[in-house]
Amino acid sequence: MNAIRLACLSLCVLAAPATAQDTAQARPAWALAIHGGAGVIERQDLSPEQDAAYRASLQRALDAGAAVLEAGGSALDAVEAAVRLMEDDPLFNAGRGAVFTAAGRNELDAAVMDGRTRNAGAVAGLTRTRHPIAAARAVMEQSPHVMLIGEGAETFAAARGLEQVDPAFFFTESRWRALERTLRDRSEPLPERPAGVPAPGAMAALHQAPLDERKFGTVGAVALDRSGRLAAGTSTGGMTAKRWGRVGDVPVIGAGTYASNADGCAVSATGSGEYFIRATVARDICHRTGGGASVQAAADSEIADVGSIGGDGGVIVMGTDGTFAFAMNTPGMYRGAVSSARPAAVAIYADEDLRP
Ligand code: ASP
Repeated sequence: MNAIRLACLSLCVLAAPATAQDTAQARPAWALAIHGGAGVIERQDLSPEQDAAYRASLQRALDAGAAVLEAGGSALDAVEAAVRLMEDDPLFNAGRGAVFTAAGRNELDAAVMDGRTRNAGAVAGLTRTRHPIAAARAVMEQSPHVMLIGEGAETFAAARGLEQVDPAFFFTESRWRALERTLRDRSEPLPERPAGVPAPGAMAALHQAPLDERKFGTVGAVALDRSGRLAAGTSTGGMTAKRWGRVGDVPVIGAGTYASNADGCAVSATGSGEYFIRATVARDICHRTGGGASVQAAADSEIADVGSIGGDGGVIVMGTDGTFAFAMNTPGMYRGAVSSARPAAVAIYADEDLRP
């Protein structure tokens, strides 16, 4: 068992009172849950300003998704709306604020899935598309494919009219420092600072603050709409100092992202992607709910399973009755939930309770 899971052992079990949480939720007409990454996120590590900034950002993402669902919009639109906001927020490791590869680039991955049709779309290794989640959706809806990567994916996204930006758009000082630290620890050479980015010290203080690399800042959302349709979406910059075209679990359908109305579940994950791929986390959770497990029990069992092979992280899960669940084996996960039956609530640390 590694240090992250040791740190969490008692805390996270206490924070996941599975069946009590399921039964406490009223049946809503629509529901939305989001995450902004899991990891070693502890109270002493975040300043009051950072804590407040994360909560405010999660709240904005919930508000955006809730507005779509309240107005009768689709689960897919709500997922995309919530994820787009978090992609634009430099606090999270997705879109602007993504981590850097060892070569000093931002390479972005995303996926989306429609629970009713089990149609899915995914992209990997984008460097210029502002909203990778929109590119994943375009793959799903406007191509015969499920996954596009690299240059081809970017060409496709541009041809579909999705906003393209200079790669410098994704730069944040905090992620650059994290890259420098990681490469120094590995005794590997530092790449040149990318062209066109702000001078050192020029960004807002919040986006210069040192970041702990034991946090996974991927973002994701799961939703149920008024017509009973489930959807899931996830977006990430991956892992700091990744190399060789590394792709994690996020765009791998069934690993970091999955939705199936037939199985009564939609899932978005965050964590050490290699382990989440090996454990087929998101599909497994839906297999468990399809077999009759509650969303919380399914999430807890799967997190225990991925933990048993060395993986760290968390998941958000939505059921067809609007019951949602969070599970993690880390001391924290940026997360939030809202439904037609309960006001929005956000949390960071594992011991915070999101029950109504
Ligand atoms: N799961 C992501 C990956 O491995 C990382 C994260 O959750 O932040 O690419």
